[in-house]
Amino acid sequence: MRAIIVGAGIGGIATAIRLAKKGYQVEVHEQNSYPGGKLTAFEQDGFRFDAGPSLFTLPELVDDLVGLQELPGQIDFPYYKLDESCRYFWDDGAHLIANTDPVKFGNEVEKVFGIDAKVITQYIKDASFKYEKSATLFLEKSLHKTSTFFSKEVIPAILNIYRFGLFETMHQLNHKSLKHAKLEQLFDRFATYNGSDPYQAPGILTSIANLELNKGTFYPKEGMHQITERLVKVAESLGVKLIYNSSVEKIIVENKQAKGATINGEFHSADLVVSNMDVYPTYKRLLQDQPQPEAILNQERSSSALIFYWGINREFKELGLHNIFFSKDYKEEFRHIFKLKSVHHDPTVYVNISSKHSPEDSPEGMENWFVMVNVPANSGQDWDSIIPEARKNIIAKVGNRLNVALEQYITTENILEPRTIESKTSSYKGALYGSSSNNRYSAFLRHPNFHQKIKGLYFSGGSVHPGGGIPLCLLSAKIIDDLTPHAS
Ligand code: FAD
Repeated sequence: MRAIIVGAGIGGIATAIRLAKKGYQVEVHEQNSYPGGKLTAFEQDGFRFDAGPSLFTLPELVDDLVGLQELPGQIDFPYYKLDESCRYFWDDGAHLIANTDPVKFGNEVEKVFGIDAKVITQYIKDASFKYEKSATLFLEKSLHKTSTFFSKEVIPAILNIYRFGLFETMHQLNHKSLKHAKLEQLFDRFATYNGSDPYQAPGILTSIANLELNKGTFYPKEGMHQITERLVKVAESLGVKLIYNSSVEKIIVENKQAKGATINGEFHSADLVVSNMDVYPTYKRLLQDQPQPEAILNQERSSSALIFYWGINREFKELGLHNIFFSKDYKEEFRHIFKLKSVHHDPTVYVNISSKHSPEDSPEGMENWFVMVNVPANSGQDWDSIIPEARKNIIAKVGNRLNVALEQYITTENILEPRTIESKTSSYKGALYGSSSNNRYSAFLRHPNFHQKIKGLYFSGGSVHPGGGIPLCLLSAKIIDDLTPHAS
């Protein structure tokens, strides 16, 4: 049996591996000349930059795929756990280093802010409880199959649903349990891990803290692009054909059954088609003649991002791999992103420096800075004015906090922004994570991993269930694996 996959994003590659392992002859068609979609890398003037994701959690989901290769042990995926999850900086001089061990992190919070360490350990315990009880229902199974709700693994989730904080916002829950403005900001920030607003998103998202501050954050030895590179090798070891510069134009449906796709004007037949393209353009471009699920397609988009890739010609000992420079008024920052659809003059700035762990990523004595602020999805804003203004504000903010005139150290620069995120990956409006999770029902409103009326048509990746981010994209492939028959 033949399968065609539209797109070699991480969700597409993971689905290809799983279907090939089930005996399908798999072809992945990727419109770009390279795999990975958002999870890619580039080099510029002696610096290497991971272009998209920088935070790696739940590595076992990648191990799972590496373990499916034909010759076990041949393709390895080396990574290690980080002791430090992030360095946090506030404009008033406050500074906190978060450890991935909850007890050590609690002690650090007690030392810096005078808050009892137990407040933090209890918070992380609660986050872990919510995560462990809810993950099977919300992340690991299709929410669109009745059988899910009768399987024994989801019973604990259903019995504990009232404890998940679905009826309060993340910020309300954080305020109740932490009662400390800076810590509330620190834990509210986890809403941005799926592009949402902590002042609207449901309290269940407080469970995200469990990943970074309990299960831990990890670093692939050669940087984030290693995830794409190794999974492509695993796919190839299973006979998957990855075809680049190959844009799928149409998914062919006959008698409510996917029959293949049109690619460069030619029909390619298949028994099963999986779209890893964002679900919005999948319908609007590839399934134009099919009924459009407008309510799902028109949900609010997640935030997008503005990223400056800077080669910095000196080292900053006070910075680590992941660094956050918080805004003074978090609520106002999110009001700008989600209500005003603009960029606040004082944004929270994330600085990732992979050369702290991979010195070969920059020339000696220098650093490769990935500098990102959350911005609204593209709705036609005047980005040509917004971007230079944001650049100026970021340079002033980070420079002031580090006590340097930062601009003089920037030796090379590249920029990614909502319009280019969309043009490079076809992500609708340049949103990083598909639709936002600002609505308490959002988990149920994401598009399923299968088409409810067209047989043989499936959807993987960050714009469909269970959501965006590397781990969830990998889980979308696992759900498709559960839903599809073995070939032959
Ligand atoms: P995508 O990466 O969206 O790729 C889809 C692919 O399909 C693309 O290669 C595209 O070219 C191809 N395609 C589209 N249409 C067609 C067509 N018609 N024919 C052929 N090919 C087509 N996640 C984390 O876990 N941690 C992070 O730290 C993190 N940070 C991020 C920072 C940035 C700047 C960005 C952009 C994203 C970040 N994310 C992060 C999110 C993460 O990158 C995404 O959720 C994930 O990579 C999306 O994968 P996907 O499978 O949905 O495919």
